[in-house]
Amino acid sequence: MARKALKRYYEILDGEEEARYLTSKKVRLDVDLTCGDEELWLVHDTNVSGEAEVQRSTTLLDLKAELAGRTLRSCDLCERRCGVNRIAGEKGHCGVLEARVCSEFLHMGEEPELVPSYTIFFAGCTFKCVFCQNWDISTRPDAGTRIEPEELAEMVETRAGGDGRGRGGLRVRARNVNWVGGDPTSNLPFILDVLRHCDANLPQVWNSNMYVTEKTMRLLDGVIDIYLTDFKYGNDRCAERLSNAADYMRIMTRNHLLARRQAEMIIRHLVLPNHFKCCTEPALRWISENLRDVKVNVMGQYRPEHRAREHPDIDRPLRMDEYEAAIELAEELGLDLTD
Ligand code: SF4
Repeated sequence: MARKALKRYYEILDGEEEARYLTSKKVRLDVDLTCGDEELWLVHDTNVSGEAEVQRSTTLLDLKAELAGRTLRSCDLCERRCGVNRIAGEKGHCGVLEARVCSEFLHMGEEPELVPSYTIFFAGCTFKCVFCQNWDISTRPDAGTRIEPEELAEMVETRAGGDGRGRGGLRVRARNVNWVGGDPTSNLPFILDVLRHCDANLPQVWNSNMYVTEKTMRLLDGVIDIYLTDFKYGNDRCAERLSNAADYMRIMTRNHLLARRQAEMIIRHLVLPNHFKCCTEPALRWISENLRDVKVNVMGQYRPEHRAREHPDIDRPLRMDEYEAAIELAEELGLDLTD
């Protein structure tokens, strides 16, 4: 079943297909990167499907990196749309100025389809989840260290070559690059810059809350191979109260549909205590009605971390019967659950 939903991903792993970002490096454009935004977006949108022929030395990936970098002057990478000039040192809601890496390692605890996954954790997040399980890095945008794009690209190449240790100390190769945080969105310009210096045929995984603008979705198109998304809530009220995120359902549903048009997907849903009717049920139903051919991971590992104790509805671990009810519903709806 995993091979069906993630067909292209497995073809990349088998060497039969290439990661999308590599294709975007082959699309060469007749464009001057000092042109105005409007002209560059026009070139971007007419070439994003990879129809352009070899003409000049600028690649589609170069253009994406340029456009992403320009957004930092009035940041609207995510739907907070802060409009701050991050290059001039103005901080928006996420507080991220430059990309800072908190950790990077071969993750063995992700979905079985993904491991070993070369996971890169950035500091900062565009959400403010009161139950954040990674609050030590998501709430501290200044945590971690700055790594030059060229240096991180080298680390990616090394992991692709098998410089990692698995069970029994065996050398293992990464199956993908997993961009996460916090949330990766604030760091998109940096990520694209890293990929400009990479050559490994490794699928790129966008591991995100998906609270991104359509502009960001356009920049990710043709770069990302798997969207690994968090579909946390089934209504706007819970999203507003627990993640301080407005207009959640409209943005989530729009971006999930866009993501599916662009790439393959694994959707995560963390089951929250006391949120079956308001969140689990509507979220899983929407997925079953709109995205039947994607993998879904119904997660039962909720623990009351960070400020969850301040919210009586989520101030305890998830009970087994609550998790079982979520799995039962997912099966009833015919969702394709992860292994
Ligand atoms: S990425 Fe950060 S600064 Fe940019 S719009 Fe989102 S929260 Fe604001």
